[in-house]
Amino acid sequence: MTEQSQDELFMRRAIELAAKAEAEGEVPVGAVVVHNGRVIGEGWNRSIGQHDATAHAEIMALRQAGKVLQNYRLLEATLYVTLEPCPMCAGAMVHSRVGKVIYGASDPKTGAAGSIMNLLSYDAVNHHVAYEAGLLEGECRAQLQAFFKRRRAEKKAEKKARQATLQQANR
Ligand SMILES: [Zn+2]
Repeated sequence: MTEQSQDELFMRRAIELAAKAEAEGEVPVGAVVVHNGRVIGEGWNRSIGQHDATAHAEIMALRQAGKVLQNYRLLEATLYVTLEPCPMCAGAMVHSRVGKVIYGASDPKTGAAGSIMNLLSYDAVNHHVAYEAGLLEGECRAQLQAFFKRRRAEKKAEKKARQATLQQANR
């Protein structure tokens, strides 16, 4: 298998995990950590369900990978994630010394791998993490956009229902 199609395979797994997050009512982001061609960590957003602001997909995947390798340093691992990491997750990637990060869609609001800042290659930080942006970007972005579109529609419907109830009560 070519390296490119292998990367796509792992990103598709991350997209599957993101769908799992969505099914649990979380923002659909998924991540996998791969070491020597083997998936050693999988994660999806679980902040709401676990009442944990740090339960982002990448953190969950890094935690599992560390347990598998029995080492918090993941030197030769590659982390695939459907959305550009936030500052917290980019910081965790630096601390875990992952070999490489590959992400799908960029995040102009909180992305810390080039969008609002770049913690993965920040001059004042002595360790730089190699990264690649835009793998299966269209699919990753479409998954997130569909989620937010549906959520907006749901909120609108809720508001409408609330207003109808109020109007009835005022009659
Ligand atoms: Zn994050």
